[in-house]
Amino acid sequence: MPTSTQPFTFTRKQIASNKTPRQINRNLVFNLIRTRQPISRADLARISGLQRSTISLIVEDLIKERWILEGSTGRLPRGRRPTFLELNHQRAVIALDIHPAQTTVAVTDLGGRIVAQNIVALPSDPAKASSSIVAAIKKLISDHAGKSFDGVGISLPGRADPSLKRPIFAPNVSWPMQSLQSKIHRATGLRVEMENVANACALSEVWFGDSDGLNDLVVVNVSEGIGTGIFSNGRLLRGANGMAGEFGHVEMESDGHPCGCGGRGCWETIASNRAGLRYYAEISGQPEPPSFAVLVRMAQSDDRHAIQALEKMSHQLGRGFKMIASALAPSEIIIVGDITSAWHLFGPKIEAKLNQNAFPKAPKLRPSFEGNTARLRSAVALVMNQGLN
Ligand SMILES: [Zn+2]
Repeated sequence: MPTSTQPFTFTRKQIASNKTPRQINRNLVFNLIRTRQPISRADLARISGLQRSTISLIVEDLIKERWILEGSTGRLPRGRRPTFLELNHQRAVIALDIHPAQTTVAVTDLGGRIVAQNIVALPSDPAKASSSIVAAIKKLISDHAGKSFDGVGISLPGRADPSLKRPIFAPNVSWPMQSLQSKIHRATGLRVEMENVANACALSEVWFGDSDGLNDLVVVNVSEGIGTGIFSNGRLLRGANGMAGEFGHVEMESDGHPCGCGGRGCWETIASNRAGLRYYAEISGQPEPPSFAVLVRMAQSDDRHAIQALEKMSHQLGRGFKMIASALAPSEIIIVGDITSAWHLFGPKIEAKLNQNAFPKAPKLRPSFEGNTARLRSAVALVMNQGLN
């Protein structure tokens, strides 16, 4: 177990006024080491613009707290040989990405790099789902007995009430997640951080992504449903009871398809992966493909009906993005989900709708740089980033 349990705030750009310059510099240095390792103290000073003496003090602290290690020795043509710094690879995080039918359980390093992962197919008996997940976590921990684990991050398709620390709204998951957090904690002794996947991805974009310096971004997670995570004025926007950002359940079509929330015609009934699959069946007269990933591959292989179905879904995504742009005026909207793997086909369609009659100016739209691992890395960000809120 780590000797230090001090939370580490990892935002690149600190807006909250309670952060001291020392903390800001510390975060900056850690992030430089994370993204450029192995790196020397001299290069840290050059890139960060901080004094060599400041760098030395921060590095000393980070080594003492076991966030980083002194690694290999560099070679220079003459003079002293610099010692390179790198993340402490002994420390690791367990990351969970929960979907209705399956959960990915992974071991990652402090930088969010995936070291190992298993996909757990969840049993149809809901009561057994959490036991399967706990068993998979224990197996990964014992397979990596040499590592010390900082905690477990869970990125879940629902809202977790920050005060109650448990999910309160998960219309697409039929098994009880309420007990999962305490079960994992009891089984492993580790700290367990749980957060809505879109919120987690928003934190992750600030922390792992390339949204350097952005204070206003919205992450839209498009999967079985649609969730949004709002990072506004430099922090997550939660609203009362942690329910802010449920754009997926805004009614877009009166008397539309029934939704898991009890309503009809919600945005996610016309723009989620499920909607894409349904469109395919409606357009082609064929049964739905077995998964959304299969539908995307069909479109990439020029299947006319698959392309039409995804174009329809893209149009509906664009409509919702316009709503988000009007409501929040983010500088960026970032999409997470399988649709991003065919971004060259469908990104322009979504963008066209977003830009149509945009007032005053549509936000930049892009897929997450993390691609399919975005959700897992977001779970790591939860463990690492818990001081942010
Ligand atoms: Zn709904």
